[in-house]
Amino acid sequence: MWGLKAWRRRLTSGRAAVDEELWEKVVSRFAFLRALTPGEKRHLHDLTQRFLGSKQISGAAGLQLTDEMRTVIAAQACLLILNLSLDYYQGWVEVIVYPGDFMPRHEYTDEDGVVHVEREPMQGEAWLQGPVILSWEAAAELENNLGVNVVIHEFAHKLDMLNGEPNGFPPLHDDMSREAWLQDFTSAYQDFCVRVDRGEDTAIDPYAAENPAEFFAVLSEVFFETPQVLRRAYPKVYRQLSRFYCQDPVVRVMH
Ligand SMILES: [Zn+2]
Repeated sequence: MWGLKAWRRRLTSGRAAVDEELWEKVVSRFAFLRALTPGEKRHLHDLTQRFLGSKQISGAAGLQLTDEMRTVIAAQACLLILNLSLDYYQGWVEVIVYPGDFMPRHEYTDEDGVVHVEREPMQGEAWLQGPVILSWEAAAELENNLGVNVVIHEFAHKLDMLNGEPNGFPPLHDDMSREAWLQDFTSAYQDFCVRVDRGEDTAIDPYAAENPAEFFAVLSEVFFETPQVLRRAYPKVYRQLSRFYCQDPVVRVMH
């Protein structure tokens, strides 16, 4: 466990050390991390330590977090920004981890002014300029469920939120075209919704049909975990994500 004093020291230094042994253990857990080149692994290790030094990852509902658990979460979160920068996770500091599904209380007012309270079990949640909330059970169980990854999902929402409410349109790089992004994502989204409506057994989680923000987050999971599935289904979207994340994960899984 990290004591508060050690934690503060690490925060001040901007980096929380993850020793080689623990790092190897965490990397070996996930096929999509094992597939990285030695250089990429080293870079991810460095980013992960800086992520741990700048974010506060805490357990909720009695969950006691270990260094290993924090590293498991941070390493996956940093995979998205491997070729971007830690600045993509700026403006918020907290990651809250529940032992399993959690029941957030969502209040909203409908058109008639009636206030509704929703309580639905969730595995992850990302707040605009606020925390990322995760179920440890879901975050730790990924190897058995390739193509589904709650950590990648919620951190993709965080990237989407860099320019406001999530809408599947994160801030693109200067050499990318907003029109092309919109066109490629919209036509893929429409095609996917038709398939889901038809009751097709899609290779991609049907939850992606919920709205364009979920489409981006779910496709980011597929992009990193089973990239060949995404490239087969929506090659143009694969290329857009590849340019946005500055990574080409299909090359990794072909080795
Ligand atoms: Zn989502």
